[in-house]
Amino acid sequence: MALEHVRVIDGTGAAPREDQTIVIDHGRIAAVGPAATIAPSAGARALDLTGRTVIPGLVGMHEHLFYPSGGGIPIYSEDAFSFPRLYLASGVTAARTTGSLEPYTDLNMKRLIDSGRMPGPKLYITGPYLEGRGAFTPQMHELTGPDDASRTVEYWSAEGVTSFKAYMNITRAELKAAIDAAHRHGIKVTGHLCSIGFREAAALGIDNIEHGLLVDTEFHPGKQPDVCPPQSATRAEMERLDISSAPVQEMISGLVQHHVAVTSTLAVFEAFDGNRPPLEARFLDALTPEASVSYLTARARARSGASSYAMADLKKELEFERAFVKAGGLLVSGADPTGNGGALAGFADQRNLELLVEGGFTPVEAIRIATANGAKLLGEQDRFGTIAEGKTADLVVIDGNPAAHISDIRKIRYVFKDGAGYDPAKLLDSVRGSVPLH
Ligand SMILES: [Zn+2]
Repeated sequence: MALEHVRVIDGTGAAPREDQTIVIDHGRIAAVGPAATIAPSAGARALDLTGRTVIPGLVGMHEHLFYPSGGGIPIYSEDAFSFPRLYLASGVTAARTTGSLEPYTDLNMKRLIDSGRMPGPKLYITGPYLEGRGAFTPQMHELTGPDDASRTVEYWSAEGVTSFKAYMNITRAELKAAIDAAHRHGIKVTGHLCSIGFREAAALGIDNIEHGLLVDTEFHPGKQPDVCPPQSATRAEMERLDISSAPVQEMISGLVQHHVAVTSTLAVFEAFDGNRPPLEARFLDALTPEASVSYLTARARARSGASSYAMADLKKELEFERAFVKAGGLLVSGADPTGNGGALAGFADQRNLELLVEGGFTPVEAIRIATANGAKLLGEQDRFGTIAEGKTADLVVIDGNPAAHISDIRKIRYVFKDGAGYDPAKLLDSVRGSVPLH
């Protein structure tokens, strides 16, 4: 197949190239270059994509196959049917399930997708949350100490997971044991931290940190070792935190020196602002009526002032992310379809790109963060994440030009995974009214 006369944004951060042709053969990019110089073989099916743009498939680095089930208790239902389709329809061709509540389901979904029995992205399965005492949902196991941490990592590594995620109440001793066990298997550890500050975690050897500055508690004056302070105590002081101050700069350079990547999850934070994000028909269409009511109620409540400082938080987080990238840090992005339900699989990955641009990144930088950078952190940069000859044909065809209007990222015409084309409209149709039922 030949994608002809198309604008290419290749994921490396390079400027868009106009009037290109991409030849896809046996799942790979066989050629890419100026349309005038590329001659596809006679049997190739040609698609004239004049006016459209091709970017690499998005690499979602904080994804889940679950979503809040509503009803007032923190329980998450596995959306094994709808979420892989929502991701793929949104241009996400590779996704790390950053924290699993049903690790066997996630592992088996990966097998179903890889064997072609279900549509979905390439999944990279994270083990069950490594949480200490004080888990907020009964779906998480609470570690009983360092031995339990290494035992859990050993068991799930053998079952096939390829990463782990530490959670908010883990102790330093447990995190150290988990990192050592994971690294023995060549497996990376990330964390949504609270009981442990970023500098401590970097020193212990963590590979990646989720959410960024907004969850870093190390600047809280009352911080006790191994204890997660209540959010009510840290949130107001976060707004006053000066990114250019010595302690924050030291934390940033510590992360960079230890090669700790940061995962940006702007969309799930933004959802707590009742006036944002834009409310879309495709979003409400994917939900059950009950889930729509539940989300719209949470949104209305936020609008009445309960969490009106969400935008101030988001601006602070973006300031941190820009400083981290400027210092040489590896920033990746992901949807994190949790929170109040406003960040949905795939759609929130697209929203992240808009928010990164709103925060000062250029569109091509934002696209690199959401594609090549994720592939690099997965160790897959030689296979996908950029558009180049020999790479896997994981490609997103966009109606419009996201380099000029980043919101065009929502207008996806086709998604290719391993060279196979998918129609986003059909995928979305197939999951109407599904979330969070299945
Ligand atoms: Zn998460």
